[in-house]
Amino acid sequence: MEKTSEMLIGLQVYAYDVNDEGADAVVNAALEIGANVIFVAISYLDHITTTKKGRAPVLQHNPHRQSHGIEAYVHTTSDRYPPGLVPPVADDSSLDGDVAYESLKQAAQPYGIRVVPWILFLSQRVAENAPETQVVNAAGDFVKGWLCPSRPDTIQFVQGLVEDTIERHHPPVIFIDGVRFPEPVPHSLIDFCSCFCDACYEKAKARGIDLGIARSSLISYVEALKNNPGAFAEEAMVSLSSGFRMLRKMATQNAILEWLRFRHSIIERLIAAIKQTADGRTELWLDVWPPSYGWLLGQDLSLLAHHAQLARPFTYHRIGGGADIPGLIGSVSPDHDIQQALYRLYKSFFNFPGPSTFKEFLERGLDPEFITVESVLTKEMLAGHSKILAGLQIWQVGKDGVYSALEHAFMAEPHGVILHCFGWATSEEISAAGQWFKDRGIV
Ligand SMILES: [Zn+2]
Repeated sequence: MEKTSEMLIGLQVYAYDVNDEGADAVVNAALEIGANVIFVAISYLDHITTTKKGRAPVLQHNPHRQSHGIEAYVHTTSDRYPPGLVPPVADDSSLDGDVAYESLKQAAQPYGIRVVPWILFLSQRVAENAPETQVVNAAGDFVKGWLCPSRPDTIQFVQGLVEDTIERHHPPVIFIDGVRFPEPVPHSLIDFCSCFCDACYEKAKARGIDLGIARSSLISYVEALKNNPGAFAEEAMVSLSSGFRMLRKMATQNAILEWLRFRHSIIERLIAAIKQTADGRTELWLDVWPPSYGWLLGQDLSLLAHHAQLARPFTYHRIGGGADIPGLIGSVSPDHDIQQALYRLYKSFFNFPGPSTFKEFLERGLDPEFITVESVLTKEMLAGHSKILAGLQIWQVGKDGVYSALEHAFMAEPHGVILHCFGWATSEEISAAGQWFKDRGIV
């Protein structure tokens, strides 16, 4: 474990938390926890964090609302952006990311707490209405709301956001999120199979890669799963039954491996462009998916580690590591036996620690050991080039769940932790986090 003085303890909030509860209330929660960094989402976030049906997060101590779509807006200098990709400005003061950032900075400053802006890039609202810049899936359809990271106009848009943020706030760090390809849910499996736009085809061709071969294979996998999910699961389980079988299978899938590596290189290139804009003026910290998922979505941490000082996978064990696996399995088949077979395949594929039945998984998600396993894998992939922060779910877990999440995070000896979604955590869960750090003499 690192020395107490060097450990980073972060609390993550949204603009509406700051607006509705007040910057002082947020800072008081940070003080109760012993947090020395507050991360505030200041750009557009149109997602609702995925969760199991019936367990949608509720704002626990917000005096004005029970739930909210997660959005915030920053004010931008429009001539920095390419046509069609000019971010909209806030039309609701409660979602003003700039105001939230500055008021929090002022309230936190007397306590030596740093405030870090969190910016989402490729899946912002601006991507909803920019079809010619959107990712194209294997079926040839645009993936609504997701910008293709290969395209020069996307790179200009991303660099513009970084430039605007630095100019406006002079932050010590920018926490960058949404730099990857789309996940299967809330999109679809075919949307995960991307990008096959002209820019990507051309880039791949220049490297001697024919994306058309991978595209055909991906379509046939998606069709096989759709047409007979039970047989698909059974056959895939045979492939996973031994290291040799898996190796033999993958040796026949060179086009898929090339496609995955191509995606890694595209994401690395975009993060390198962000670094170029930020270099010497602010640090970059990476908001990444747990590496087992992230590697499939274009985030190869062994490449990205060279471009950032810190990386934080969100290891939310209670909701399947942040991915809506129940939603994905449910979308394939309503049949309980098939759902169980697909869950078994999912668990075997990733070797995740979790309950043996899909029913139990729906009730309690993965085991907290997931946090340790994915944090250790993150460290292994970062290989010392950048440090790791464990990203923890402290809502819908109760006091014991907070203790357990922290215990399992610290088994991986991270540089620190970020406790996510202040507004969804109860006062008891926030206090529990503070108590855990106090009990161990960390704060
Ligand atoms: Zn593309």
